Amino acid sequence: MAISKTPHYDAIVVGSSFGGAACALAAREAGLRVCVLERKRDPGERLHTTGIIVKEAAEDTALGELPANLVRRIDKVRLYSPNLRSALLSAPGYFFLTTDTPNVMRWLAQRQSDAGVELRLGHSFQAAQRTGSGWHVDGVGTARHLIGADGARSRVAERFGLGRPKSFLYGIEYEFDGVALHEPDTLHCFITRRFAPGYIGWVAQTPTGVQGGLAMRYDPAAARTPDIAGFLDRVGGLVGLPARRRADAVRAGLIPCGGPVAPLARDGVILTGDAAGIVSPVTAGGIHSAWRHGWLVGRALAGAGGVAEEIAICQAPRFRSKRLMRWAFDHAQMDWPFDLLLRTAPLRWAAERIYFHKRGSARTTRPESDAA
Ligand SMILES: Cc1cc2nc3c(=O)[nH]c(=O)nc-3n(C[C@H](O)[C@H](O)[C@H](O)COP(=O)(O)OP(=O)(O)OC[C@H]3O[C@@H](n4cnc5c(N)ncnc54)[C@H](O)[C@@H]3O)c2cc1C
Repeated sequence: MAISKTPHYDAIVVGSSFGGAACALAAREAGLRVCVLERKRDPGERLHTTGIIVKEAAEDTALGELPANLVRRIDKVRLYSPNLRSALLSAPGYFFLTTDTPNVMRWLAQRQSDAGVELRLGHSFQAAQRTGSGWHVDGVGTARHLIGADGARSRVAERFGLGRPKSFLYGIEYEFDGVALHEPDTLHCFITRRFAPGYIGWVAQTPTGVQGGLAMRYDPAAARTPDIAGFLDRVGGLVGLPARRRADAVRAGLIPCGGPVAPLARDGVILTGDAAGIVSPVTAGGIHSAWRHGWLVGRALAGAGGVAEEIAICQAPRFRSKRLMRWAFDHAQMDWPFDLLLRTAPLRWAAERIYFHKRGSARTTRPESDAA
C-alpha cells in the first residue's frame, strides 16, 4: 500500500496577524492540527496598523498577556474640533494600549509556534484545489478547512469567489522614534474635514516614540493623496511634535468600513478579520473584532459538518448602527457643528460612547493657545 507523504491539517490559515493568530491558537487549544501561511518573512515588517488595543481586547484575550515593554497605557482622549479647540474625555477604569507593533507581531508569531502551530513565514498563498474532503494547497498539504485571515485584499476571498469588502477608508501614519508628547497618556484625535474627510487624524505616544496619522474615505475613482505632512504641521505644535521632523517610518493601508462581506464562508473556506470586513465602520478599529471572530472560528473548527461556517457567519458583527453613522459621516460631514458643539453635552455624550463604549465621563478644557 502506498503511503501518502502529504501532510494533513485540520485547518490551513492564511495570514498570521490578529485574526489568523486568534484562529490558529483557538484551534490548537481544541487539539487541532493547524498550519499558518504568512507571506512576510518577518511578521514585524511592512505594518499597516497603528496597533492600538482597546481595553476589552486587553482584558478578554491573549493580547492582555503582551509583555509590559511592548505596550503603553493611555487613559484619556483629547478630542479636537476643526478649529483646534479641545475636550478632554476620560472614563474611570477605561484605557487603550498603544503598542510597539512590530514586536507585538513577532510575539504573536512566537506564541503560535510555542502552541504547536506550524507557522510558515515567507510563504504566500496562491491557490488551492478541491480534494475529496477539503482542500489541497501546493507545497503545504491538505486541510479540511481553509481560513482566509489575509486582510482587506484577501486572495483567499478572490480565489474562492467569496465576498470582498467594497468600501474602505485609507489610513496613513508617520512614526517618530524617541519623541515625547506634552500629554503622553492621552490619545489626541482631530476632527478635520480638510485633512481627514470621513474619519479623523490622531497622534499618540507609543512605547518607542510617537505615531501621528490620519484616515480618509477611499475613492479609487477620485484618488486624493493624503496630506499627512500638512496635517502634522498644523497639529504638531499643539501636542509636542518637533517641527519639520522627518518620519522614521510610515504605515499605510486600506480599512474595510462597510460591514461583513457575503458570502463569508462556503465549502470549508472561511474568512475572518479584515478579509471578512469585520472592522468597526465608525472607529475603524479591527484588532479586537478580528481577534474575537478569529477565535470563535478557530474553536468551531473542531465541530462537525458545516458548524464552523455557520458560526463564522452568524458571529460576524453586523455593525448596523455604526454603518448608519458611517453613512452620515460620509454624506454630511461638516466642520461648523463640531466647532460649535464640541463642548456641549450631546457631543460629549456621543464621543464618550464611541471612545469608551458607554462608560465615559468627560471634562472639557481649552488648549493653551485658546485659553491665552
Ligand atoms: C493605518 C491603519 C491603522 C489602524 N489602526 C488600528 C488601531 O489602532 N486599532 C485597531 O483596532 N485597528 C486598527 N486598524 C485596523 C486593523 O489593523 C485591522 O483591522 C487588523 O489588523 C485586522 O487583522 P487581520 O488579521 O484581519 O488582517 P491583517 O492585520 O491585515 O493581516 C493580514 C495578514 O495576512 C498576510 N497575508 C496577506 N496575503 C497573504 C497571502 N496571500 N499569503 C500569506 N499571507 C498573506 C499579511 O502579510 C498579514 O500578515 C488600522 C488599519 C490601518 C490601515
